[in-house]
Amino acid sequence: MNFADSEIVNSILLEKGMEAAHEADKADVVLINTCSIRENAENRVWNRLKELRSIKKENRDLTVGVLGCMAERIKDRIIEEEHLVDIVVGPDAYRDIPRLLEEVEDGRKAVNVLLSLEETYADIAPVRTTGNGITAFVSIMRGCDNMCSFCVVPFTRGRERSRPMESILREVKQLSDEGYKEVTLLGQNVNSYLDGENTFAKLMHKVSQVDPEMRFRFSSPHPKDFPVELLHTIAEQPNLCNYIHIPAQAGSDAMLERMRRPYTRESYLKLIERMREIIPGVSLSTDIIAGFCDETEEEHQQTMSLMKEVEFDLAYMFAYSERERTLAYRKYEDNVPEDVKKRRLSEIITQQMNIQDQRNQKEIGNRHLVLVEGTSKRSDEQFNGRTDTNKMVVFDRQDYTIGDYVEVEVTSATSATLLAKPIKKSSIQEYYSSKAEAVA
Ligand code: SAH
Ligand code: SF4
Repeated sequence: MNFADSEIVNSILLEKGMEAAHEADKADVVLINTCSIRENAENRVWNRLKELRSIKKENRDLTVGVLGCMAERIKDRIIEEEHLVDIVVGPDAYRDIPRLLEEVEDGRKAVNVLLSLEETYADIAPVRTTGNGITAFVSIMRGCDNMCSFCVVPFTRGRERSRPMESILREVKQLSDEGYKEVTLLGQNVNSYLDGENTFAKLMHKVSQVDPEMRFRFSSPHPKDFPVELLHTIAEQPNLCNYIHIPAQAGSDAMLERMRRPYTRESYLKLIERMREIIPGVSLSTDIIAGFCDETEEEHQQTMSLMKEVEFDLAYMFAYSERERTLAYRKYEDNVPEDVKKRRLSEIITQQMNIQDQRNQKEIGNRHLVLVEGTSKRSDEQFNGRTDTNKMVVFDRQDYTIGDYVEVEVTSATSATLLAKPIKKSSIQEYYSSKAEAVA
């Protein structure tokens, strides 16, 4: 989401006649877009600010700004402790950055952390300067009203609001005209997207019609209100990826209740069953938190057993990190000792890696349609890209180019990557119609 936000800021600054400098020591202004979701994310920003100090020593005219969630959460501390920071801008105030930069010219600190009920930056066309020109993020809503007890997002990003469907479709069309091949629609709970009568399922159907050779993903839906209609739409439309990220967070009802996640283990498992029933071969990923307040060993085991039962294709796993202002901060104690949190997290990760390894081994011999995204980190002679099911694939580049859809056959696998041999260049329509014929 921050990646997408930075592209909006890019657009605002370029519009004002500024240019991108590719090194911090060559810039007049350095803006750091920040995340507050866990302590670790914030620590990285403090470290980056430390690095900037030496650059500022050499260039006293350098303006340094902190944008995003940390700006919202701890503006006073940033300004008091970091003399180097000149401007602080919350996630709903990016349009104000040019004015704030002028204010700094007069030697003052400039701050705008006002949250908005309406801002969606719908009319701003993001400028994508750092991507691969093939895959892009499109923000469809901002903020969150869910108030999960562990989460700071509703406090830093404000109330939930949806971007008008027309402006999303326009942006997707523009990306398609520019040669982009894959779009991920973003929101904190995409299920609650609503623009007049237009629901998220309707939006997904509409985007799938913009360009049949562009494929679509989304992140994140919430298990409490996942629309079944959307599962049918995904099953029917070849360019809606057979991949769903569906954050579980924990595996016991008591823990889900403390987390203020209004679903049960049973209803979560039922939802997974429906997903697999309606979209055969769908690939699933999740988010898990280890060591949340009062977590017992048994509750931890229930998280482990949920993950074992579902066998996710991918998981993002975190140790609980207490955030000020949240309900958990006010009501519960962050009382699972650090070493126990670490041990539980590492058990969760080890189990998940084994599951991924086993699932990926079963892919050997299977064919997939891969969108080529770039050159492999291991070798210039190889490309990487992802399957429709979001698995990373590496294969010999031969005569293919970035942005091609290539049919490949998996030859070997690790827990993170599939190695494959390319068969032929293809397209979404060609690949899926020949697959349908084969089934018939
Ligand atoms: N809106 C998304 C989540 C966005 S935050 C959703 O509800 O699915 C991404 C992930 O960060 C969350 O799913 C959660 O697993 C993790 N997370 C959020 N707050 C956290 C905290 N305080 N400590 C550890 N992990 C946290
Ligand atoms: Fe945070 Fe919950 Fe909102 Fe996700 S749904 S952003 S976890 S409050």
